[in-house]
Amino acid sequence: MRSQEVNNKLTQAAELIKDSKHTTAFTGAGISVESGIPPFRGENGLWSKFDPIFLDLGYFFKHPDESWQLIKKIFYDSFAQAEPNAAHYALAQLEQRGLLQAIITQNIDNLHQRAGSKNVIEYHGTTQTLTCTHCGRRYQASTKFLNDLPPKCESCSGLLKPDFVFFGEAIPELAQSRSLQEAEIADVFILIGTTGEVQPASMIPIIAKKNHAKIIEINVEKSNYTDSITDIFLNGKATEIMRNLLAIYLTN
Ligand code: NAD
Ligand code: ZN
Repeated sequence: MRSQEVNNKLTQAAELIKDSKHTTAFTGAGISVESGIPPFRGENGLWSKFDPIFLDLGYFFKHPDESWQLIKKIFYDSFAQAEPNAAHYALAQLEQRGLLQAIITQNIDNLHQRAGSKNVIEYHGTTQTLTCTHCGRRYQASTKFLNDLPPKCESCSGLLKPDFVFFGEAIPELAQSRSLQEAEIADVFILIGTTGEVQPASMIPIIAKKNHAKIIEINVEKSNYTDSITDIFLNGKATEIMRNLLAIYLTN
């Protein structure tokens, strides 16, 4: 049984979203945890098992073999097993019903798109394509490339790099400008499963708040945002809260 307080907060959040002209979701690793993808930080996070140096741009160029072995294992072999969960599907449903206008995701797992969301801004890029670090030619990340590491460009034999953002790399320009635009125009931002510790992504909800967006936050624990910018904190698992939120629209 949900407590009255939780029910009230859910209803308030549902009303804010219903009355909003433009609502944007901002998602982090937490939304994909229940799909079986671990976050980076925390007790069972990836960084407790692997040294993040392999995602440093300089290290990648110096040790492409070693970096690519880990990249394949973590971002291709294990991500490929994951399926979208109820939280990803609920966001896609909200978009279809005209209640959500965009998702800005820090994730690179493609699960929002696989759940059917259309307007997805991939702030940290994607695992789905690879780009030649020499001539810039772009390829789909198919097994043809991933079975022969490190993958090489078919035109110039240059080293291929996945199109997600490494440490020491800039945010893709279009993703940055589109995210800033969302932060300017949104009436409501829904933060799901993000600590607010990753720069510069963490600034986007803060900018939205400065531009008078109401902030709804869903997380299993408090984040950097909870006591600073959050208006309604829905404490719980992303799948559970999003299912309950969607149910309010389905029953009304
Ligand atoms: P993060 O900022 O993405 O934090 C994860 C957050 O999720 C934490 O606040 C945690 O309390 C919360 N959380 C955990 N389980 C949850 C659940 N079931 N429901 C709701 N919230 C839950 O931090 P990070 O993991 O250090 O990630 C750093 C960066 O790397 C981010 O940009 C992140 O998106 C990216 N990353 C992406 C993936 C992916 O593509 N799936 C996986 C790991 C990290
Ligand atoms: Zn090339």
